[in-house]
Amino acid sequence: MDKIKHKILVLSGKGGVGKSTVSTQLALYLSHIGKKVGLLDVDLCGPSIPKMLGLENREVHKYSDGWVPVYKDETKSLGVISIQFLLGDKDTPVIWRGPKKDSMIKQFITDVSWGELDYLIVDTPPGTSDEHLSITQELLKYNVDGAILVTTPQGVAISDVRKEISFCRKLQLPIIGIVENMSGYVCPHCSECTNIFSSEGGRLLAEQAQIPFLGKLPIDPYLTASAEKGIDYFKEYPNSSTLSALK
Ligand code: ADP
Repeated sequence: MDKIKHKILVLSGKGGVGKSTVSTQLALYLSHIGKKVGLLDVDLCGPSIPKMLGLENREVHKYSDGWVPVYKDETKSLGVISIQFLLGDKDTPVIWRGPKKDSMIKQFITDVSWGELDYLIVDTPPGTSDEHLSITQELLKYNVDGAILVTTPQGVAISDVRKEISFCRKLQLPIIGIVENMSGYVCPHCSECTNIFSSEGGRLLAEQAQIPFLGKLPIDPYLTASAEKGIDYFKEYPNSSTLSALK
C-alpha cells in the first residue's frame, strides 16, 4: 500500500447504476494516459470487472510476496484483482458469512503484490454493508484519497446516495465527488437527448450536499456492448461522443 500514490474507492447506493462501469473505465483511461493502475474488485457477491475487461477464466497465483494481479495486457499498465479469479467457475456464488468476507477483504488490501502504482481504484459492493465498513476502515489506515459516488439521476437512486454520503462523513472518508450515470440517451439517428431516468438529480444532490459534481455519462449502447464483450471502449470507439464525458 505504501507504494501506491492514490487510492480511490468507487461507491454506489444501489446495484445496477454503473459503479463497476465507472471503476473500469476510470482505470482503463488512467492506464491509457500512461499511469500504472490497479483495479481491485471487492464486489464479493457480484464481481463483474473480469468480464468487463475480457479477463474471465483467468486465475491469480499466490507467491511468497502475495497475489500477483492479472494484467490486462503485456504493458502491465493495468492490473486486476477480483474474487472471481479465486473462484474459478464464474457461476459459483460467494456464500460466506461476515468474518470470512472480512478476512478476504483484509487480504485483498495487504496481500497483493501490486508493485509501484499511480492509482488503485477499488470497486465496492452496492450499499453500505459490512464489507464497506471493512474495506473503508482498512484503506483509511493507508492514506486513502477518498470516494467517488456513482448514481443514476432519478429520485430512488439519489436517496440511496444520501446514505452513502452520510456513511463517508461518519467514517471521515473524503468524498471526491458524484458521477451521474445513465444521464439521458442520445439518439444515434437524430441526436436528440431523452432523459429516460429524469435528469440533473446527481448535480442537484452534489449542490445540496456541497460536494463536487464530476460529470454526467449518457446511456451509450456501445458502452454496454463493450462491457458484454470485454473490449476496450477507448480503443474500439475512439470517435464516440461518450468518450469526452468519460475522460
Ligand atoms: P453496478 O456496478 O452499479 O451494479 P454496472 O457497472 O455493472 O453497475 O452496470 C450495470 C449494467 O449497465 C451493465 O450491463 C453496464 O454495461 C450497463 N451500463 C452502465 N453504465 C452504462 C452507460 N452509461 N451506458 C450504457 N450501459 C451502461
